[in-house]
Amino acid sequence: MLTNRESTDVDDGPKQYLVTCESCSFEHAADGRERATAIGTDHHRETHHEVVAFEVPPSLGSP
Ligand SMILES: [Zn+2]
Repeated sequence: MLTNRESTDVDDGPKQYLVTCESCSFEHAADGRERATAIGTDHHRETHHEVVAFEVPPSLGSP
């Protein structure tokens, strides 16, 4: 149910993601989903923590 069709401009650039950990204060920004997944997998492999990646809306990135 997370379809964003209100925006008319189709952004072809990588989306901004924020990778956070539920078990510690780990937090990391990433460009693109693959990057975020890689960072999350890396942290999970090191700590066995559950990592969640949030997609950051473009409206939050600019003032
Ligand atoms: Zn962690």
